[in-house]
Amino acid sequence: MKKIGFLMFLLVFIFAFPTIGQAAGGGTSIYLDGKALDLPKNGQVQNVKGNVMIPIRVVMEQLGFDVVWEKGTRTVTIKQADTTIKLIINQTSASVNGQKTPLSVAPMLKGDTTLVPLRFVSEQMGLTVGWDNATKTVYLITPDQTGGNTGGGTTGTGGSTDNGSTSPVPEANLAAVKGIGFDANRLTIAVDKNVTPKVFSLTGPDRLVIDIPNARFDESFSSSHSLDAYQNGYMDINGYPDVTKIRYSQFSDNPPTIRVVMDLSGARNYSLQNGNDGYVIVDLNVDQSYPPRGNGKPLVVIDAGHGGTDPGAISVTSKKEKDFNLTIAKKVEHLLKLETELDYVLTRSTDVYVTLKDRAKLANDMNADLFVSLHANSGSATASGVETYYTRKESLPFANVMHKYLVEASGLPDRKVRAKSLHVTRETTMPAVLLEFGYLSNKNDEALLFTENFQNSVAQGVVDGIKDYLGLK
Ligand SMILES: [Zn+2]
Repeated sequence: MKKIGFLMFLLVFIFAFPTIGQAAGGGTSIYLDGKALDLPKNGQVQNVKGNVMIPIRVVMEQLGFDVVWEKGTRTVTIKQADTTIKLIINQTSASVNGQKTPLSVAPMLKGDTTLVPLRFVSEQMGLTVGWDNATKTVYLITPDQTGGNTGGGTTGTGGSTDNGSTSPVPEANLAAVKGIGFDANRLTIAVDKNVTPKVFSLTGPDRLVIDIPNARFDESFSSSHSLDAYQNGYMDINGYPDVTKIRYSQFSDNPPTIRVVMDLSGARNYSLQNGNDGYVIVDLNVDQSYPPRGNGKPLVVIDAGHGGTDPGAISVTSKKEKDFNLTIAKKVEHLLKLETELDYVLTRSTDVYVTLKDRAKLANDMNADLFVSLHANSGSATASGVETYYTRKESLPFANVMHKYLVEASGLPDRKVRAKSLHVTRETTMPAVLLEFGYLSNKNDEALLFTENFQNSVAQGVVDGIKDYLGLK
């Protein structure tokens, strides 16, 4: 079969593809297991009613399937392992191992080129097919790459009409992706079940792709993340030099696969941490990726305390400290964005858990100039007021300045600058303070802390304090 296929194919090839490398293709690119296919440059890859159609030459040469073209009956036979697909030009049903199977788009002749629907052929052969509409890119993944295949490592082993050798995971057993966040230069994907993510990098432009097979977005996902009707969404990333944007989608239905793409400013090393603890983490802090900053601007790390599974203190009306801290951090960020004389980075900008170690490491790795951790306190019902903590004595001058602004901006009792051995102020290597904005255990403090006026005022106080210390005002 193979030999005949090849001979027949050669004939087709000679007549049908005399113009390889002529003009630009339709802008569609196809990746097989992360590697770009070498497509004919003369526009033969076509997009027809939302279906990517490829020449049978690509099916054979790039996907490695046997292809026979019978001109008389206008039939294409594609064979791989136990699967035989017969497609007839202009017919909207195919035969897969003798079974009649509907097609969403019929194979066609374009000039002398026979085009077949890429998704249908690939899926019948057991490949996972994904489509990124933004970049007009098709992603094909062989079964052994999706972690669900028990067979050999080659393309389409044992493919059958139920779309391949991967036994489908029942819907109820799929993992739910509950959240996606980017903090401390790390992508965190929260999942409710153990998953087997695949990470690979692509170039032109540089990006990192994380596929999570057998997963869907949780019902609650769209309430906290942008997600359109086609299950696509993205978040812009500010404050990190490596990453410009994070996109995510329900990338494939066979098997249901969530894809998260990090758009990078250049090639980056990464490490994948998957402890099956509810978080998949892709960490970009693997090499000293922060050369001494050349722009001469001071870098300030803003650290919203707690987050994710760690709520911090719970207020008298059951509000969470982590939410207060993040709100202040976002307001500080908003103000720092307007400052052209300094750079900043947030240890977290979403409701995710970041370890204390990672917070300090981020600041140290980035060679930051200042570190400001934002918290609210808890104690007796009568305790009220603000405190500024530091650990190393070289942080004291910074603590004194910040505290002055904290007292003024909060209008709360002055509970003084205090020395205490706290992880983030101890393990950082630059002047570092931890601010307590008031007591969530105190009825009056708590009510005040959750007002817009108070929050705006203390956020401004933080920025004013930083600028004062740096001599920028
Ligand atoms: Zn706290």
